[in-house]
Amino acid sequence: MDISVVIPLYNEEESLAELTEWIRRVMRENNFSYEIIFVDDGSVDGSWDEIIKLSENNNDIKAIRFRRNFGKSAALHVGFQQVEGDVVITMDADLQDSPDEIPELYRMIKEDGYDLVSGWKKKRYDPLTKTIPTKIFNWGTRVVSGIKLHDFNCGLKAYKHDVVKSIEIYGEMHRYIPIIAKWAGFNKIGEKIVHHYPRKYGTTKFGMSRFIRGPLDLLTISFVTKFGKRPMHFFGTIGLVLFIIGFIIGLYLAIAKIMFQQYKMTERPLFYLGILFMILGTMLFIGGFLAELIQRANPDKNKYDIKEEINTL
Ligand code: UDP
Ligand code: MG
Repeated sequence: MDISVVIPLYNEEESLAELTEWIRRVMRENNFSYEIIFVDDGSVDGSWDEIIKLSENNNDIKAIRFRRNFGKSAALHVGFQQVEGDVVITMDADLQDSPDEIPELYRMIKEDGYDLVSGWKKKRYDPLTKTIPTKIFNWGTRVVSGIKLHDFNCGLKAYKHDVVKSIEIYGEMHRYIPIIAKWAGFNKIGEKIVHHYPRKYGTTKFGMSRFIRGPLDLLTISFVTKFGKRPMHFFGTIGLVLFIIGFIIGLYLAIAKIMFQQYKMTERPLFYLGILFMILGTMLFIGGFLAELIQRANPDKNKYDIKEEINTL
């Protein structure tokens, strides 16, 4: 199969028929073999009924329905488990991304050999409250990751099959897929300027919370990729260093008291610092140890409650 289109959606009933028709037309015109994978992220409107309707008399649709809203990252994650196409395209369900971009994205992966091509909404049709924070976000992400993309969080992206099978996204990490891919060893990351449309139906699903969760997830990603499989190296090192400093302070005070001076230990401010360091060090060490145990006992943390499925693997 040439292409899998993965579409996460949450309350997008008005858009689905139009979007599906449009994708089918593009696929037909270009003679692609394809599948459309809808992941209904716990919609409470008629989205799932619409998907059932669209999949009747057609075998080009796979669909998964979460029992509740787990978020876009979770939806992408389970969608990726279903893909069979050589090239995987992700797009939003709200008709802000254009299926007409698919053939060129496909070509860039297949012929130019990109692992990942991210859309770049150079001209955006979103309110200023969205575009300005986005500029700051993209700048910060560029600095942290060293990846020269203009628009990390564009919903329209294309991947080589292997990329989506080897990365793991949860939380709100869909914003950082290019970084996760790069750290997983997929280095050829490109970008393509794409058409962007104003939202036709419904409203945006991401409010102010994105400004807090976004940066936190960036921290998590940096931390997890470096130390996720070996938390003891992080906590243990800091803990050990603090403990040793504290111990040396304590030792110095004790020796000084015995050999030279007649003072009460508690009269020396340094005494408290020494104790503080030893306690903090021990706690960090224990924290690292526990994290290590949890990491080993619980490798599979992404279980999402699926209510219904159509045509899935
Ligand atoms: N979405 C989702 N789960 C959520 C929030 C959003 O599957 O919890 C989907 C949504 O239906 C849309 C895509 O993610 O298909 C992008 O969402 P939206 O258009 O609201 O984001 P924006 O374009 O405003 O950044
Ligand atoms: Mg949108």
